Amino acid sequence: MSETMVAPGTSGAASGGLQQVDVAVVGAGFAGLYCLHRLRKAGFSAVVLESGGDVGGTWYWNRYPGARCDIQTIDYSYTFDPELETAWQWSEKYATQPEILRYLGFVADRYDLRRDIRFGTKVTQATWDETSGRWLLTTDNGASVSARDYIMATGCLSQPKPPEIDGVQDFKGEIYFTGRWPHNEVTFAGKRVAVIGTGSSGIQSIPVIAEQADYLTVFQRTPNFAMPAHNGPAPADRAALLNSDRAGYREQARASMAGVPYPQQMDVSWQLTDAERRARFEKAWATGDLVYILSQLWADQAVDAEGNALVADLLREKVRSIVKDPETAEALCPDDHPFGAKRPCLETNYYATFNRPNVTLVNLRKEPITAITATGIKTDKRNVDVDIIVFATGFDAMTGAIRAIHPITGRGGRSLSDVWADGPETYLGLTVAGFPNLFLITGPGSPSVLSNMAVSIEQHVDWVVDRLAALRSAGFTTIEPTETAQAGWQRHLADCSMVTLHRLANTWYTGANVPGKPRGVMPYTGGVGPYRGICNEVVDRGMLGFRLTGPRGAEQCNDGEIVRLQPDVRLVLNWLAEMNLPPIESMGAQGARDFVAQFNATRPAGRPVGEVLDGALPAGEDMLKYRLYRPATPGLHPIVVYFHGGGWVLGDEQSDDPFCRDMCRRTNMIFISVGYRHAPEHRFPTAAEDGYAAAKWIAEHALELGGQPGPILVAGWSAGGNIAAVTCQLARDRGGPEIGGQLLLNPVTDCSTEHPSYTENATGYFLTRSLMYWFKDMYCAPADRGDPRISPLRGNLKGLPPAFVVTSEFDPLRDEGIAYAEALAAHGVPVGQLKARGHFHSSFTMVDVIITGVSGREQMAEALRMFAKVPEAESTAPQVHAAAS
Ligand SMILES: Cc1cc2nc3c(=O)[nH]c(=O)nc-3n(C[C@H](O)[C@H](O)[C@H](O)COP(=O)(O)OP(=O)(O)OC[C@H]3O[C@@H](n4cnc5c(N)ncnc54)[C@H](O)[C@@H]3O)c2cc1C
Repeated sequence: MSETMVAPGTSGAASGGLQQVDVAVVGAGFAGLYCLHRLRKAGFSAVVLESGGDVGGTWYWNRYPGARCDIQTIDYSYTFDPELETAWQWSEKYATQPEILRYLGFVADRYDLRRDIRFGTKVTQATWDETSGRWLLTTDNGASVSARDYIMATGCLSQPKPPEIDGVQDFKGEIYFTGRWPHNEVTFAGKRVAVIGTGSSGIQSIPVIAEQADYLTVFQRTPNFAMPAHNGPAPADRAALLNSDRAGYREQARASMAGVPYPQQMDVSWQLTDAERRARFEKAWATGDLVYILSQLWADQAVDAEGNALVADLLREKVRSIVKDPETAEALCPDDHPFGAKRPCLETNYYATFNRPNVTLVNLRKEPITAITATGIKTDKRNVDVDIIVFATGFDAMTGAIRAIHPITGRGGRSLSDVWADGPETYLGLTVAGFPNLFLITGPGSPSVLSNMAVSIEQHVDWVVDRLAALRSAGFTTIEPTETAQAGWQRHLADCSMVTLHRLANTWYTGANVPGKPRGVMPYTGGVGPYRGICNEVVDRGMLGFRLTGPRGAEQCNDGEIVRLQPDVRLVLNWLAEMNLPPIESMGAQGARDFVAQFNATRPAGRPVGEVLDGALPAGEDMLKYRLYRPATPGLHPIVVYFHGGGWVLGDEQSDDPFCRDMCRRTNMIFISVGYRHAPEHRFPTAAEDGYAAAKWIAEHALELGGQPGPILVAGWSAGGNIAAVTCQLARDRGGPEIGGQLLLNPVTDCSTEHPSYTENATGYFLTRSLMYWFKDMYCAPADRGDPRISPLRGNLKGLPPAFVVTSEFDPLRDEGIAYAEALAAHGVPVGQLKARGHFHSSFTMVDVIITGVSGREQMAEALRMFAKVPEAESTAPQVHAAAS
């Protein structure tokens, strides 16, 4: 039953009484409007409080010349009502601000929303009352509001950033802020105008102002990447796609990474020729679509600095080709952030504007503004007298409007600003521990500004209103995330932020544009579709991470973390689960080998190295194939003898090709991957003996192979890690070769299955317990399993070469790897360990699929360099990924 006692718009609301509703919503933009509609349909009484004079939010305030959306309008629309979709026709590919505002007005009228919106009403404070279990919202106009639930639809880009320049108040001319543009017309004709700021709003408004003004001076601190919008009617191909299956198109958008239906690009940059890359880029440039250019060039463009630099170079080339004055062109070329790490812009005549005789660019990096004077702007090199100053200086993004309501007081009298003193912390970007019944629409920690906001807003509103309805049905009155769930989400956010390049730029995404604001990537970088899946999973798992309470002590709390896997590991495992593959052990040895070969073929090819050579080396009567990876640098390099994974049954000298290439590049060492013989054709101890024979032969032929003579290093993954460990023991016992260090990646060290990780991670993480049983049965008889050549943990561990042991949290082999590292250390062997949180058995060898594996490989490379006594500077791979594990 509704709790409304005083209807909005009545005297109680207007005169300073108390308005009681089920739900209070702050903000009447895209989010607040849809929220009100959904709440009403779900039978809740609700009021929307909006400081502006009408609906529209962003599109009410940002009326500056040239303002448009930069997600194609057919995508940047509500999708909740199919009839609404056909009732409104957009006139352009990127609608102008007036058209979007008309659209939001049309929506408000269609669903009769205005009658529950109090315009011109700013919420100034909000307080949770523990006794009544309600929020009290104080406003600057009319009644306070008491509501059980408080939804902040206050916008990510709605709190303009104040100018950080002295003297603004002294200026005698006109001052405008793009984010608070007046409703009356601003006349530029015959005026000298300054625009400060070249983000989206600057880039959109500058060309329009330049056409009207007598003279325009643009003050730029940080150049931004921009590409032509090519505005006009909605592109025929996109419109046709939408119209052919509207519901399907919308579903694809919801499942996509950015909220616009584009496929996942699979080709990596180094697989494409220069000409192919250029052709793709030119097509993207001609398309005039940010999501397209950000996602459709090559798979590594958003996650790898080298892949990204290729796009950035081409974009800079375009700027130089348009802007005639070389110094101005150079100043307009961004050089301090990867493309996409800062919000790129769509432009219409922006670069060409700088060829106009009435436009000058002032590069604030070379001549900072020192003051604003009565007549204009002073830099340390000149005075620019102007009649109008336009501040296009952006927003205190994501948290600005939330923190502007101060205090928001939660449980125990704690204020949200204090709780967020070191940066925002949320669960799912939707809720905050200690603040019951408070919901943030597109809050920090959700995809929000990294997505098509229309899609993200609808998802959040639906999730919140569905939860409120479910709570009501179950008889609960409060909902609040637990500290555990919130801390887990923060960890997941940090993990996600290691996948993309956003963390490498100083931007409003990271809070860097506001002096004193805590730094950190605020939006969720893991993608719209995966995020939606996680929110749904929270519900499916009994509101995991939430405490629900109700009358008479009713309580439900299913505590826990929703994502413990690394984000890319989660995606890969979900993808594998969707494939519903038969167990590998049911395929037979040859079937399993065929499957692995097919599976590997779907993974991106390894990166280029100096040289790849195939050869063969003797092992007893047989010859073993090997593949040698040589760095591109000249000279003799240390040699790493590498043993591939595959449970002694699968794989070959080529099957870990991407890993060997990556490590060859990172270490600047020769990697020689050995094709040891496999079970069941060659059972124990063939693989162990082959490993030893190969290491010995390679050490003896180091010079012929182009390697440094002297100690070799050994490395291996999984069963290959087992062979590497065993090789070290055999080399010690048999008088050589000399081994300088061993890298053991998720090694088998013990044939016991007693280790808890065998039970904890028995299924669900690709390498299963049952597959390990099968591998062991294929390779060796039960009677052999105590032999140190299969269970090196049971061997003599004294006097072995230094080791670096990598284990993964979600791997059946985790505990035996840790046990081996600890046992080595106990026997005086120098040991480094990486216990990789959130990773699975294949995390580090799925190079360029599991991006979060990069930091682990960096650590492995560092260990190998230390073993070989090579200084770090000699490695050749870029070191752009900080440690994630
Ligand atoms: C110029 C510009 C262009 C953009 N283009 C795109 C685009 O192409 N695609 C895209 O996806 N996104 C775009 N965005 C982001 C845009 O903000 C969102 O798409 C969307 O409009 C946000 O809707 P919202 O309802 O969440 O917030 P807003 O539209 O910002 O609405 C929030 C409302 O809350 C009100 N409010 C805030 N605090 C209070 C308070 N204390 N009391 C009362 N009222 C309050 C504000 O007045 C405002 O009206 C753009 C943003 C800008 C600034």
